[in-house]
Amino acid sequence: MKEFGREELVVCDKRSNRIPSLSLVGGEPLGEIANTPDYDRIMGRLSKLGAAFLRLVAIAGPVLFGLLTALYVGRPSPYYLATGITVAVAVVACDGWIIARRHWITGGFALATQIVLLIFVGTYMASPLPAPSPLSDPLPQASPPGGMAIYALPTGANHRTAAFAYRGGSPWDKRDSVSTAVLVRHPQGDLLIDTGLGRSIAEQMKQFPFLFRLGTELVRFQAAADQLDAAGYDRRRLRYILLTHAHWDHISGVPDFPGIPVLVTAAERGFIEEGGWATAQAKSMNAVFQEYAFDGGPYMGFTQSRDLYGDGSIVIVPAPGHTPGSVVVFVTLSGGARYAFVGDLVWQLEGLLEREERPWFEARTLGEDPVLLRQTLLRMSAIATRYPQITIVPSHDPRGYASIPEWSRSATR
Ligand SMILES: [Zn+2]
Ligand SMILES: [Zn+2]
Repeated sequence: MKEFGREELVVCDKRSNRIPSLSLVGGEPLGEIANTPDYDRIMGRLSKLGAAFLRLVAIAGPVLFGLLTALYVGRPSPYYLATGITVAVAVVACDGWIIARRHWITGGFALATQIVLLIFVGTYMASPLPAPSPLSDPLPQASPPGGMAIYALPTGANHRTAAFAYRGGSPWDKRDSVSTAVLVRHPQGDLLIDTGLGRSIAEQMKQFPFLFRLGTELVRFQAAADQLDAAGYDRRRLRYILLTHAHWDHISGVPDFPGIPVLVTAAERGFIEEGGWATAQAKSMNAVFQEYAFDGGPYMGFTQSRDLYGDGSIVIVPAPGHTPGSVVVFVTLSGGARYAFVGDLVWQLEGLLEREERPWFEARTLGEDPVLLRQTLLRMSAIATRYPQITIVPSHDPRGYASIPEWSRSATR
């Protein structure tokens, strides 16, 4: 036995195979512990604990890796990436240990969770829907009045990836998921299509599920109401807020416009009551909801429509799937420019152009109706092919707003 200052180095006596003594730092020797039953029991327990940990990593590691994958595509943080790589290396090492020790039952469970992981990762792979039958109808007539104009009011962005938005998207392709309100000026009354993130978004976010917040990195810009106020916009001109649907990121700014009627379909009004956390804000915000019906005829392949001002400039069609009462808003300006605001039918344009649905995990957590969503997606895909002059604007794809002037930067308001 040798002493190093106040500490004691434990050296095994090779001749007797005994541990001479054990002491606490700076304490008195505890006495000799024979390298026999007690020592063996302790070592045996440690060995069992170690083996149990290796088994746990081998079986649960793939589940954790899947969770980290889902988090990373929604929020491409280097921490999720580094943790994912560490977990993957640990799982491979534990698999090697299982094979070397021939723990075949544990190996079977480990293989099962790895197969589940492969199936899960497979739900992010490309799987284009079959092309829809082509449309032949001519472009619908519209008589938009002079003085119409359209402006984008960006209110914030989430840093996400293409893999999050549509099947076949790359996890290394970083995409901004923007939240933008759109102001349509019309002589019969202006219209705000969605509100983007409002003044109280930070408070609203606190009530969202922990896992959702873990997978979301939100960057806030100025709220739409503040942008309008800063430019001296006369709020008496704002007649309606028209929602593509009632999810939190579209309705967040409604309380910033007290008293302005919020147009929703009856189906969406019902969804607000039952939509869980994603519509909890909508339910509690005391908004003046005003339901409307689809009293118009077929429109570009959709069976029903609502011509808001009767001049064909703003036509709404039912587009259920993402939520029960989701809509597409077609806007035609006096100059002839046409837009289709498709809400969250797709999150990025590729979803529509390549006919790729959202990945399973994202669709599942949203509680979408996959059959209705597929029908609407294919209908809009046929419209995008038949009428290339219509600018398709998915709510969260910044490319959709490229041809719409930004309110805060526009000289002619
Ligand atoms: Zn949505
Ligand atoms: Zn959204």
